[in-house]
Amino acid sequence: MINADTRLVYPENAKSEAYRTYLEEIEAAKECPFCEAYLMKWKKIPPIKTGKYWLVVPLDFPHENADVHFMFIAKKHVTDIDELPTKAENELFRLRRWLKKKYKLKYGTILMRSGGPETGQTVTHLHAQLVKAKKGVIVLTRI
Ligand SMILES: [Zn+2]
Repeated sequence: MINADTRLVYPENAKSEAYRTYLEEIEAAKECPFCEAYLMKWKKIPPIKTGKYWLVVPLDFPHENADVHFMFIAKKHVTDIDELPTKAENELFRLRRWLKKKYKLKYGTILMRSGGPETGQTVTHLHAQLVKAKKGVIVLTRI
Protein backbone atom coordinates (compact mmCIF):
# COMPACT_ATOMS: atom_id res chain seq x y z
CA MET A 1 0.00 0.00 0.00
CA ILE A 2 1.22 3.48 -0.86
CA ASN A 3 1.71 5.83 2.07
CA ALA A 4 1.45 9.39 0.76
CA ASP A 5 2.70 10.82 4.05
CA THR A 6 6.12 9.21 4.06
CA ARG A 7 7.10 8.67 0.44
CA LEU A 8 9.03 11.46 -1.29
CA VAL A 9 8.80 10.19 -4.86
CA TYR A 10 6.58 7.85 -6.90
CA PRO A 11 8.72 6.12 -9.54
CA GLU A 12 5.68 4.14 -10.66
CA ASN A 13 4.24 7.37 -12.11
CA ALA A 14 7.31 8.19 -14.21
CA LYS A 15 6.64 9.06 -17.84
CA SER A 16 9.72 7.26 -19.14
CA GLU A 17 12.03 4.42 -18.19
CA ALA A 18 14.97 6.83 -17.70
CA TYR A 19 12.92 8.99 -15.35
CA ARG A 20 11.67 5.91 -13.45
CA THR A 21 15.25 4.71 -12.91
CA TYR A 22 16.27 8.19 -11.74
CA LEU A 23 13.35 8.31 -9.27
CA GLU A 24 14.17 4.82 -7.97
CA GLU A 25 17.71 6.02 -7.15
CA ILE A 26 16.26 9.01 -5.30
CA GLU A 27 13.81 6.80 -3.40
CA ALA A 28 16.63 4.46 -2.36
CA ALA A 29 18.64 7.46 -1.08
CA LYS A 30 15.58 8.61 0.94
CA GLU A 31 16.22 12.23 -0.11
CA CYS A 32 13.77 14.81 -1.37
CA PRO A 33 15.09 15.84 -4.78
CA PHE A 34 13.50 19.30 -4.53
CA CYS A 35 14.67 20.26 -1.02
CA GLU A 36 17.51 22.76 -1.14
CA ALA A 37 19.96 20.38 0.57
CA TYR A 38 19.64 17.83 -2.27
CA LEU A 39 18.40 19.84 -5.24
CA MET A 40 21.68 20.16 -7.08
CA LYS A 41 22.66 16.61 -6.19
CA TRP A 42 19.70 15.34 -8.19
CA LYS A 43 19.08 18.09 -10.73
CA LYS A 44 21.33 18.63 -13.71
CA ILE A 45 20.07 22.11 -14.60
CA PRO A 46 20.20 24.80 -11.87
CA PRO A 47 17.41 27.30 -11.14
CA ILE A 48 17.23 30.28 -13.49
CA LYS A 49 15.41 32.49 -10.97
CA THR A 50 14.88 32.51 -7.23
CA GLY A 51 11.97 34.14 -5.44
CA LYS A 52 11.14 34.30 -1.76
CA TYR A 53 8.90 31.21 -2.00
CA TRP A 54 9.76 29.55 -5.34
CA LEU A 55 12.62 28.49 -7.57
CA VAL A 56 12.15 28.54 -11.33
CA VAL A 57 13.94 25.60 -12.91
CA PRO A 58 14.03 23.99 -16.34
CA LEU A 59 13.12 20.30 -16.28
CA ASP A 60 15.86 17.71 -16.56
CA PHE A 61 13.28 15.39 -18.14
CA PRO A 62 11.01 17.68 -20.18
CA HIS A 63 7.86 16.24 -21.71
CA GLU A 64 8.55 14.83 -25.16
CA ASN A 65 5.95 17.15 -26.68
CA ALA A 66 7.10 20.25 -24.79
CA ASP A 67 8.68 23.18 -26.52
CA VAL A 68 9.20 24.94 -23.20
CA HIS A 69 8.92 23.14 -19.85
CA PHE A 70 9.69 24.73 -16.48
CA MET A 71 8.92 23.98 -12.85
CA PHE A 72 8.22 26.30 -9.97
CA ILE A 73 9.57 24.47 -6.92
CA ALA A 74 8.48 25.61 -3.45
CA LYS A 75 11.58 26.61 -1.48
CA LYS A 76 10.06 25.07 1.64
CA HIS A 77 9.25 21.36 1.77
CA VAL A 78 5.48 21.33 1.66
CA THR A 79 3.15 19.03 -0.22
CA ASP A 80 0.15 21.32 -0.72
CA ILE A 81 -0.24 24.97 -1.72
CA ASP A 82 -2.46 25.46 1.35
CA GLU A 83 0.67 25.08 3.51
CA LEU A 84 2.11 28.29 2.03
CA PRO A 85 0.97 31.87 2.67
CA THR A 86 -1.16 33.69 0.11
CA LYS A 87 1.91 35.76 -0.76
CA ALA A 88 3.44 32.59 -2.22
CA GLU A 89 0.47 32.20 -4.57
CA ASN A 90 0.96 35.77 -5.74
CA GLU A 91 4.66 35.21 -6.30
CA LEU A 92 3.99 32.03 -8.28
CA PHE A 93 1.87 33.94 -10.78
CA ARG A 94 4.35 36.82 -10.92
CA LEU A 95 7.06 34.30 -11.82
CA ARG A 96 4.74 32.76 -14.42
CA ARG A 97 4.33 36.19 -16.02
CA TRP A 98 8.11 36.66 -15.94
CA LEU A 99 8.61 33.35 -17.76
CA LYS A 100 5.85 34.15 -20.25
CA LYS A 101 7.55 37.40 -21.14
CA LYS A 102 11.08 35.97 -21.17
CA TYR A 103 10.15 33.14 -23.54
CA LYS A 104 7.49 35.13 -25.46
CA LEU A 105 4.91 32.44 -24.67
CA LYS A 106 1.64 32.96 -26.47
CA TYR A 107 0.10 29.82 -24.93
CA GLY A 108 0.90 27.24 -22.28
CA THR A 109 -0.42 25.04 -19.52
CA ILE A 110 0.27 25.42 -15.81
CA LEU A 111 -0.29 22.40 -13.60
CA MET A 112 0.07 21.78 -9.87
CA ARG A 113 -0.62 18.46 -8.19
CA SER A 114 -0.97 17.62 -4.52
CA GLY A 115 -2.34 14.84 -2.38
CA GLY A 116 -0.59 11.71 -3.52
CA PRO A 117 0.14 9.32 -6.36
CA GLU A 118 -3.46 9.25 -7.53
CA THR A 119 -2.82 12.62 -9.21
CA GLY A 120 0.03 11.20 -11.26
CA GLN A 121 2.65 13.18 -9.34
CA THR A 122 6.17 11.81 -9.16
CA VAL A 123 7.67 14.12 -6.49
CA THR A 124 5.63 15.03 -3.40
CA HIS A 125 7.51 18.29 -2.70
CA LEU A 126 5.15 20.99 -3.99
CA HIS A 127 5.86 22.21 -7.47
CA ALA A 128 3.98 23.54 -10.45
CA GLN A 129 4.83 23.02 -14.08
CA LEU A 130 4.54 25.39 -17.00
CA VAL A 131 4.46 23.67 -20.36
CA LYS A 132 4.29 25.11 -23.83
CA ALA A 133 3.57 22.23 -26.14
CA LYS A 134 5.12 21.92 -29.56
CA LYS A 135 2.93 23.43 -32.24
CA GLY A 136 0.05 21.15 -33.14
CA VAL A 137 0.40 18.95 -30.02
CA ILE A 138 -1.73 19.06 -26.91
CA VAL A 139 -0.07 18.36 -23.58
CA LEU A 140 -2.48 18.42 -20.70
CA THR A 141 -1.95 16.00 -17.87
CA ARG A 142 0.85 13.49 -18.40
CA ILE A 143 3.87 15.70 -17.81
ZN1 LIG B 1 11.45 18.54 -0.25
